[in-house]
Amino acid sequence: MVSSGTLWGRIRPTTSRAVLILGGVIIAALLAMSGYEIWRQRQATLEAATQNLSALSLALTQQTERAFHSVELVMDSTAQSVQQAGGPDKMRPLDLHRELKARVDGIPQMIGVAVVDREGFMIAGALRYPSPKTQFKDRDIFVRHRADPSLGVVIGAPHASPVDGRPIIPVSRRLSGPDGSFQGIVLAAVDPEYFQQFYRRVLPSEDGAFALFRTDGILLARSPQSDNTVIGQSFAHLRIFQPDTGPQGLAQGPSPMDGAYRLLAYQRLSSYPLVINVSLRRDVLLAPWLNNAGRLGLAAVLAVLLVSLATAVLTRQSRHEEAHAIALEESERRLRFAQFALDHAADMVFWVDSGGRILYTNHAATMRLEYPPDALVGQPIATVDPRFTDRAWRRLLPWLKRRRRAQFRSVHRTRRGVPYPAEVSVNYVEFEGADFVCAFARDISQRKAAEAALAEKTAKLEASNAELEQFAYVASHDLREPLRMVNSFVTMLARRYGDSLNDEAKEFIGFAQDGAVRMDRLILDLLEYSRVGRLDRPLVPLPLARGVEAAMRSLHVAIAESGAQVEVVPELPVVMANEEELTRLFLNLIGNALKYHHPDRAPQVRVGAQMVDGKVMCWVTDNGIGIAPQYYDRVFRIFQRLHGRDRYEGTGIGLAICKKIVERHGGRIWIESTPDQGSTFFFTLQAGPALA
Ligand code: ADP
Repeated sequence: MVSSGTLWGRIRPTTSRAVLILGGVIIAALLAMSGYEIWRQRQATLEAATQNLSALSLALTQQTERAFHSVELVMDSTAQSVQQAGGPDKMRPLDLHRELKARVDGIPQMIGVAVVDREGFMIAGALRYPSPKTQFKDRDIFVRHRADPSLGVVIGAPHASPVDGRPIIPVSRRLSGPDGSFQGIVLAAVDPEYFQQFYRRVLPSEDGAFALFRTDGILLARSPQSDNTVIGQSFAHLRIFQPDTGPQGLAQGPSPMDGAYRLLAYQRLSSYPLVINVSLRRDVLLAPWLNNAGRLGLAAVLAVLLVSLATAVLTRQSRHEEAHAIALEESERRLRFAQFALDHAADMVFWVDSGGRILYTNHAATMRLEYPPDALVGQPIATVDPRFTDRAWRRLLPWLKRRRRAQFRSVHRTRRGVPYPAEVSVNYVEFEGADFVCAFARDISQRKAAEAALAEKTAKLEASNAELEQFAYVASHDLREPLRMVNSFVTMLARRYGDSLNDEAKEFIGFAQDGAVRMDRLILDLLEYSRVGRLDRPLVPLPLARGVEAAMRSLHVAIAESGAQVEVVPELPVVMANEEELTRLFLNLIGNALKYHHPDRAPQVRVGAQMVDGKVMCWVTDNGIGIAPQYYDRVFRIFQRLHGRDRYEGTGIGLAICKKIVERHGGRIWIESTPDQGSTFFFTLQAGPALA
């Protein structure tokens, strides 16, 4: 995904997004259109089917109506001829049989017709002669016709024929005398098979079904026949037989006959209490549609795939182009930024071609060299730096090509010919097969002046330091000579005239000797102090342990006498130090640790070191009398002591020497202490390289 925000925070509308949206819309439209078309075709198929069903049911109704009408006509004419003969008992059964047979002939839906007299005996039937003497007296139909003269034609529930056992639909009507008296009934047997065959012929397909019911739901005939639907069975529970249902209509649902989902048209006969159903299986009906929908769906899917592919390709392409455009714009903007920075940089910038011609100078360059903007473009570089004649430039270029970049100091010349020192860095650049040099130059006249001033100051300082050291050394050295003289003459005085001197004079001489000795010590200390950092003591890589061990050797008597315990951390590092001064440092610190021990306990001294921030931090810890914080600085000053000479021997130079040694080694020294508990002297030294 190309980010719409760039480094510079711009958000742009993208073509790729538009392509993506368009593709989405086309796909959605394609899916919607094909979905709608599939749905529409389905509706049309169902509509056409229901129309066909309605038409079919109407046609079948009329046909069925006609069939029953013919049966009724046969029964009516039979009744008429019986009436004309004066009643059923007035007719000869054989004649009646013949007549009935003649009437039934040519009417395929009728299996037979029979006449029953008022006593309930069958007089004659069309099928056989003589007819079986079947008794109808107690049959429901006989009783109903006898009781109700207005009953008309009654279509009974189908039952098995008493003659051959196949199912028949009984149809009956009353026989009345001229006075309306009950004379018996005419019975007709209608063949359900007739309807079944007829309907099968006209049904549109194997899956079509037809059924003939009485309006009370009793099944009279059905095609196709199935095992779980028996002629004569009642389907009164179905919705189409409910009293509120109209004379015709459409319905759909699972069929009670075979369980298949069916579309159904029903129609009530106008002259008989019968209903005709015609139905079609919905799945069969919809099969061609389903086929078609499948093809349509497939086409839609293919189209969607094609559109998706096209969208993907187009999106990719436009994203690519957009990314390219964004990158281009960004690089242009970066270029402008870089150009601005270059133009306004504090350093001078020059681009020079392979022939030594200036191609570009920035503002700082033209300003310093006192040219108008762009006036140097096209000029040879020697205009700025006279060293780079054409020949020199031709030599420089291949050298620079190998080195890629170089730095040097040079002298540049302004337009008026005023020279100034410059620090130049040149870079070789190959661009589109050509050689270029990009040079950055800085006017260092001020820096050079500052450097010169600093060097001068340093030299002066060094000279004065050396002088001071020399003075201190010479002074202390030369002071000892007269002091020695004073001391030896006072000693001589004491030795030679000692006996004639009184006690007070002897005491004075003692004081003078003492003072001379002390002064000598002070001068020696001063001498030593002045010697620290002398040039003949260079710093070299040195194991710290060496200084510690040397100091301990010098102190072994003091250690033994005081019963001290001195612990040194193993594996001390290597430092940059002068051995003599390092030994002096530890000698003073460990010596103090022994000297300023606590009167109540034997001294315990620990010496250690570790690396901290690239330096070696060393420490000497004791359990002595400690130092109060306000004296932390004072103890490092020369001849500063916290105790009188009567309590602790010393001149107060030891820590001053330590400080001087540490500082000249490039380190720092400080104290952490708790009075009455002990002190730790820390100092840092430069780490030395590890010695193999
Ligand atoms: P000196 O030991 O000759 O007096 P230093 O310069 O070595 O001189 O020490 C200065 C003073 O610092 C000492 O007089 C002492 O009071 C104090 N001092 C130095 N080291 C210790 C220490 N380890 N414990 C307590 N006090 C110390």
